[in-house]
Formats: sequence, structure tokens, C-alpha cells
Amino acid sequence: MVELRGVHKSFGPLHVLRGVDLDVAHGQVLVVLGPSGSGKSTLLRVINHLEKVDRGSVRVDGRLLGYRQAGDRLHELPEREVLRQRTQIGFVFQSFNLFPHLTVRQNVTEAPLSAQRRPRAEVEPLAERLLARVGLAGKADAYPRTLSGGQQQRVAIARALALEPKLLLFDEPTSALDPELVGEVLDVIRDLARAGTTMIVVTHEIGFAREAADAVAFMDAGRVVELGPPAQVLDAPVHERTRAFLAKVL
Ligand code: ATP
Ligand code: MG
Repeated sequence: MVELRGVHKSFGPLHVLRGVDLDVAHGQVLVVLGPSGSGKSTLLRVINHLEKVDRGSVRVDGRLLGYRQAGDRLHELPEREVLRQRTQIGFVFQSFNLFPHLTVRQNVTEAPLSAQRRPRAEVEPLAERLLARVGLAGKADAYPRTLSGGQQQRVAIARALALEPKLLLFDEPTSALDPELVGEVLDVIRDLARAGTTMIVVTHEIGFAREAADAVAFMDAGRVVELGPPAQVLDAPVHERTRAFLAKVL
């Protein structure tokens, strides 16, 4: 489903991704760990083409995002096409990023109505189902500012799901939350994992990684230095950097 090969990305002189290879199969959950600045957010951003790679390739569902291949030449797609492709990938951020002037229901229905041009009669019942799925059935008419951080993040998850994406990316979805609200958000992500949603989750919630991940990748200085099943990476890491990192977060 997701295939990265030799991905490099620099910002000016800063070489942030230094040859990343990764595979996530359909229905699998990959958890990405690593110290601050190791390139985790950049990795997610190149997967949905919010950042262009300098070298290497990113394929989602067999397709090169942002490009059209003609023979062995690559042509960049116009921004409009990229936006359309990007609706197949849901992105949930640390900071929720809900539209403050829209109700919960409007936050969830906005993209399917405007980006996908789906009929309201189809999108509104979908929003009701998704809000029920994230435990917010009664909150459709509320405004984001009246909700707790955990509730806002669950709205953000429902909003991402409303596009019926093939792939969901989470960038530290619980790190802005008060500790007592982390569990309710992780429960929702865990349910999605059980339902077979393909996901890449950047998080330092080791317990979640242990239960929900099919694979754990540890990144350091722009490389995946360790990759394997959770029991291997979390309990028997091979690399000194992984051990040192885990000793700090566990
Ligand atoms: P954190 O755990 O703090 O979120 P991270 O592993 O997600 O860190 P990235 O956000 O991917 O790290 O950033 C990796 C490096 O790239 C950092 O040094 C960051 O300052 C730099 N960087 C990221 N985006 C940009 C950008 N758009 N322009 C310039 N530098 C950037
Ligand atoms: Mg980050």
C-alpha cells in the first residue's frame, strides 16, 4: 500500500531524510518512533506529497503521488490533481486543526462536500455514523472550542475518515492532550486498527505501539535504523540509539 524507496529530502543545507526505505502493506499499522528532529513529520509529509522528495520514490497503492508516468519520464501533476489524490490519504495532526467557525458536523462534512463534491444527502448520514464511531454522537452541533482536547481530536479523526481514505497518517495525535484524555483517542485509533485500516502513526505511546502496531520503525537522523515487529524493536532492540531512546520514553 505504501512503498518508499531511497527517499531523500533536504531543507536548504539540512539533510532531513537520508535514504528511507519503508513498506506498509494493506491493512497494516506502522508505528514510527524517534527523537525530535529525526524526520518523522517530514516522512509523513512526503507520503502525502505535502513535501516533494529530492530523490527516491513514494508510492501509495502502486501510484507515484504527484506525478504521472509516461514511459520512463515523470511529469508533475497540476496542484488540482494533487489535491484530488491527497483526499485518498487522511492526515491527523498533533494540534487537531479543526475549523473553529464550523460546527462538529460541518467540520466532518466540509471536505466530502467541497473537495469530493458528494451530495449532502449522502455526506450528512456518513458524518453521523463517523461521529458515533468516535464516541461523539451527541456533539454534531457543538463548536470545537466547547469540546475537550480529546473530543476535538476525535472530531479530527472523524473528519479524516469522512474522505474514506485508503491510508491514514497520524502525527503525534495525543501529544498535545492532557494525560487523562490520551486513552480515549488511542482507543479510537486502536478500533481503526482492528477494523483493518492502513495507518502510519508517529507516537511515543509505547503501550499503544505494543498492542496495535504490526511493525515499529525507529528513526534517527533521517534514517530508519530499526524496523520490525513491536516485540523485537521495543523489547530487544539491536541498535544502541534505539535502546537509549526507549530508556528515556519507557
Ligand atoms: P519532532 O519529534 O520534534 O516532531 P520530527 O522527527 O517530526 O521531530 P521533523 O519535523 O521531520 O522532525 O524535522 C526534521 C528536521 O527538519 C528538523 O531539524 C526541522 O527543523 C527541519 N524542518 C522540517 N520542516 C522544515 C521546513 N519546512 N523548512 C526547514 N526545515 C524544516
Ligand atoms: Mg514531528
